[in-house]
Amino acid sequence: MGKTRKFFTADLHIHSCLSPCAELDMTPKRIIQRALDAELDIIAIADHNSCENLDAAVGLAGKMGIALLPAMEIASAEEVHVLALFDTLQAALGMQERVYAGLPGMENDPVFWGEQVVVNGEDEVLGFNSRLLAGATDMPLNRLVDAIHGFGGLAIASHVDRESFSVISQLGFIPAGVRFDALEVSGPVPPYVEEAGLAAVRSSDAHRLEDIGGKKTRFLLDGANLRELASALRAEGGRKAVID
Ligand SMILES: [Zn+2]
Ligand SMILES: [Zn+2]
Repeated sequence: MGKTRKFFTADLHIHSCLSPCAELDMTPKRIIQRALDAELDIIAIADHNSCENLDAAVGLAGKMGIALLPAMEIASAEEVHVLALFDTLQAALGMQERVYAGLPGMENDPVFWGEQVVVNGEDEVLGFNSRLLAGATDMPLNRLVDAIHGFGGLAIASHVDRESFSVISQLGFIPAGVRFDALEVSGPVPPYVEEAGLAAVRSSDAHRLEDIGGKKTRFLLDGANLRELASALRAEGGRKAVID
């Protein structure tokens, strides 16, 4: 059987209502519907230091017909945001356990930070995550990236061109010893991204429905899965990531 190589449009950085800073209507069901309306083929729901809405999201993605990568946006000890993409929910949950063990153990203050809502596939509230997800883990950047790889995941430095919680804002440079798989940019690709010799991707970092798909990356792949995505980031066999 011949392979069907084609371009897949992806937004790999979307927050759900579990993230304290995201709007409450960012439920998995509404996110996926909005992503389909925006003609996206692949999405990743990545909440801050948690993935408790992925169970609902993974179930819905299969039914609604979109490829969804289990993900998290994890804060390193240096407060660098790292987007972690996984192959399976099980891998994401394994990483979540490691992240939870390294969070400061403080309670969320919903009035100050916002609610952290866990929902099911029908937009029903299952509960509220009481951990302070807005904090940082105890893992320095290199150990965090290695831990993500240990669960078979991809580690992408989030919004490197932003002035907060990025590897550039926190460290001032992209450390050569940290094995990122790609660098996420919000705007034009800066020279230091090209010099790093890593693939650049662009995603929305949506915290509200209307931003989903507003920034995206097109991937030339043989299929919508993590392994193909990893190959595209390494430009293997003609696969590639393209940001317009
Ligand atoms: Zn971030
Ligand atoms: Zn984010």
